Parts: sequence; structure tokens; C-alpha cells
Amino acid sequence: MTLTAPTTRAALSTALRIAGEHPSAMLACPVCTANIKAQNLERHLRKVHPDIDPEANGEDAPLLWRGVDEGLWRVGLALLVLCMVGITAFLVVSGSSTMSSAESLALGVPALILFMFFGLTLTPWVPAWLTIEGEHLRLSWGFGILSRSAVLEAPITVGVVTVQRMNAVHIKGADYNEHAETVRGGRYLEVGGIRVATKGKGTAFGKHWSDDGVKSGGRRARWQISIGREDMVALEYALAERGLLRARAQND
Ligand SMILES: [Zn+2]
Repeated sequence: MTLTAPTTRAALSTALRIAGEHPSAMLACPVCTANIKAQNLERHLRKVHPDIDPEANGEDAPLLWRGVDEGLWRVGLALLVLCMVGITAFLVVSGSSTMSSAESLALGVPALILFMFFGLTLTPWVPAWLTIEGEHLRLSWGFGILSRSAVLEAPITVGVVTVQRMNAVHIKGADYNEHAETVRGGRYLEVGGIRVATKGKGTAFGKHWSDDGVKSGGRRARWQISIGREDMVALEYALAERGLLRARAQND
């Protein structure tokens, strides 16, 4: 039997319960995110995911999702700007255009470290975590040093996240003109000010969940954490388990 994450096991248990109650609803498969009619979910699990035991009990395990920290770059940028302002102020105050090698080192090394730190925050390598603890959704970010918590309550806000895409336009010969274009980058789900995004294709949220208790949010260019599509599906099931999302009736 394949080991599945506690979040996937919890999602399976919720999905099977919803399938029993609303056989005509459309659901996301908690394992592969495929869009499936609820009455066919058990057959899909048997045929497509025979390794997974939907009866395996994982309800006591904490629900923890690992994602990418999408907020730390602002801290990194602020520190870098402060450092640059400090260096400029030092040069102005000292009134000399040349620095001793000790001074260069004392100013250059922190600047370099902050520059590298800022660069790191722009990569997908800095993790952040979401957990559900009782009635709260908790976001841990900034290498686990910073956190915020939100009460799990309606409304859930959903919408589109946008990203900047650089387009290189070939003009003539070797000349390129680059311009940034704002494009749709994925979907978000927001609860209590914690905005969670999944990049690329969404989870077909509108097909699966009723509009009841759900607010349509605008396009957003910032979010605090991004998680994979399977994790987003599991998060939606966790919210459904707590009564915050309801399966969309067939002709809803
Ligand atoms: Zn599947």
C-alpha cells in the first residue's frame, strides 16, 4: 500500500462521505485531482489508485501542508534597501569617495549577504507551511519564525492570481524589446486574510463547491503561500469537513 499524506487521507475520507450524500455531485479525486462524478469515485479509486487504501485511518494526524513562501521577498527587499540607504549615508557623511579596505569589507559583506538572501526569497526553495489547528488555519513563514493565524469561518474568497510575464519582442535584426504583461498565473483561496495560491491549472472549484458561503474575489498579484494542486484539493476538502464548503448540487 502506498503511503499517502495525512491531508490526502483526510481528504479521501471527506470525499467518500460527500459521495455517499451527494452521488450526483462532481468531486475532485483527492489523489490525482481528476474531475469525477461522486457516484463513480469509489470505482475510480479502485481502478486508478489500487495502491491506496481509502479505509486507512489518518484522522488523528495533524493536517500540515508544505508550500512555497511567497511573502518573504518583501522582507528581503526592505532589508536590502535599508542596507543600501545605510551605505549611501555612510559615504555621504564620511565625505570621501574612497573607502579603506576594512570599510569596504564592513559594508560590502552585509550588502552581499542581503543581496543573496533577497535572491533566495525569489526562488521556490523557501518553504512555508499551513496547518489546521482546531478552528484555526495557521500560516508559518519566514523560515518558520513568523506566523499568522485565521479563524476558519465563512466567507471563503476565491479568485485568480496574476503574474508578470516578460515578453521579448523581436523587432528587427538583433534588437529586442522586452515588455512585461500581466497574465493569469493560477487560482487562490483566501480565508481570514491568509491567501493561498496554486499555480497553473486550478482545482475546478466552481464545479465542485456551492456558492453558498463563498465570495468571488478580484484578481490578486500577491499571496502568502503557494501549494500544489493536490494540496489545494485537500485543503478544500478540509474546509468542507468543517462545513465551510458544500458540494454543489447537480443543477445548482
Ligand atoms: Zn484519481
